[in-house]
Amino acid sequence: MLVYVNGRFVPKEEATVSVFDHGYLYGDGVFEGIRAYNGRVFKLDEHITRLYESAHAILLQIPLSPEEMAAAVVETCRRNQLSEAYIRVVVSRGPGDLGIDPRKCPRPTVVIIADRLALYPAELYEQGMRVMTVATRRTSPAALNPRVKSLNYLNNILARLEANLAGFAEVVLLNDEGYVAECTGDNIFIVRHGRLLTPPPHLGILQGITRDTVMELARRRGIPVEEAVFTRHDLYVAEECFITGTAAEVCPVVEVDGRKVGDGRPGPITRQLMADFREYARTHGTPIWDEPAQQAAD
Ligand code: PMP
Repeated sequence: MLVYVNGRFVPKEEATVSVFDHGYLYGDGVFEGIRAYNGRVFKLDEHITRLYESAHAILLQIPLSPEEMAAAVVETCRRNQLSEAYIRVVVSRGPGDLGIDPRKCPRPTVVIIADRLALYPAELYEQGMRVMTVATRRTSPAALNPRVKSLNYLNNILARLEANLAGFAEVVLLNDEGYVAECTGDNIFIVRHGRLLTPPPHLGILQGITRDTVMELARRRGIPVEEAVFTRHDLYVAEECFITGTAAEVCPVVEVDGRKVGDGRPGPITRQLMADFREYARTHGTPIWDEPAQQAAD
């Protein structure tokens, strides 16, 4: 495996960063998780835009243009001969001293890793997953806005530890007011009276790119979609529920806190959107390899 580190492709074993890097010392940095399907990088521009917006929000100047970053992502897939991949882009504040002051870090560290992905087991997609709401609340946007995809993931990890202790694959975090926010690495949707509802970004969530894609796919099917504030109770009485994320894609949820969602099986809207997403992801995206003119044009 070849890893992009500050403009060079190096073997995995040599892909190291300084212990003085503020990404390591303080979680000072931003990242993206991106997928490639069928020889195409999915929603590359959207991921690059979110990365640069996250960096802008923390006054981190990425030493590459967005176009150069996009090209480096594609090149990382190419060098590793990957048509299907999970790609991690990390930009940290870079090496500094032991103080937290970012002014001591003149050179950000840029790393791109493309690897194969270990997915949730197939039966979770067929039978649906059980989730629980956890005690850990999603970081308040007033403290650290979850829209910034920063290296500070301890809030999510605390929720993940609760999931591990209780034996759940994914869990739901409420925001500090008790409204449903999102999961440790996924957004959440419910179907209520035939409408698709998902929490709005201002509630304190990452505005997921899979979330945006699924909302668009639902609209194309004529399914009404709304960003809405809802509670745990709404999860319990939903007709359907599913989660979305780059790694998870669209995964049905059939039980929340021991309450069956709908009839306890993945619902029709969820199934439709799972199928639509799979088809869309396979056929859209930035080509990794040169394509014949005809294919490139569609
Ligand atoms: N919420 C959180 C906290 C996440 O880490 C992720 C994964 N990046 C998501 C939601 C889903 O976002 P996306 O669809 O862009 O992967």
